[in-house]
Amino acid sequence: MDLKKIGKFIAKKRVEKGFTQESLAEELDLSNRSISKWERGICLPEAAKMPTLCKLFDITINDLFSGEIVDMKNNEKRLEENLLELTKLKEQKDKQLLSLEWVLAVIAVVTLLTLVIIAAAIEMPDWTRWTIMSIGFVLFLATMFFGLRIEQIAGYYKCEECGHKYVPKYWPVFFAMHMGRTRHLRCPKCGKKSWQKKVL
Ligand SMILES: [Zn+2]
Repeated sequence: MDLKKIGKFIAKKRVEKGFTQESLAEELDLSNRSISKWERGICLPEAAKMPTLCKLFDITINDLFSGEIVDMKNNEKRLEENLLELTKLKEQKDKQLLSLEWVLAVIAVVTLLTLVIIAAAIEMPDWTRWTIMSIGFVLFLATMFFGLRIEQIAGYYKCEECGHKYVPKYWPVFFAMHMGRTRHLRCPKCGKKSWQKKVL
């Protein structure tokens, strides 16, 4: 997927349809900067805005991803290529998210330990000591919550029983027993509980 090409295509279509960056942004309920980012090939339009954008430009989503009008003869082949590319992009993003989870866990543990050591080692009034420990604990919990949120949304869990892949809700993930990233969850499709692996 060629972001630069898609950007140029968006710019061309925008002018063709008589929009300025400002008026297009207004139409899509976005900032001018988003449009400019798309057109410079820095990022793709948000999925939620794609249908409206395509309607305004009178193009298909497949045209948008291809950065040109795809003729009907090549349509299916291009669609497949674009889908494959999108899947790869999502995989990459999920991998980054999961490494961020590790970074967060390390930060959480180091912060908590540092604050506990400070509170234990330095002479200070009791209320200060408790305040420092509480702050450390709250920070630790907040980071853990956020880390678990990453684990919930990045990639999928795969049901051992029926092979169904899905993104679970937060609280089942929170309460599930786990070994590493493998969690004991109930599959929404077959309803059976099993140890489900995280897959990308
Ligand atoms: Zn299942």
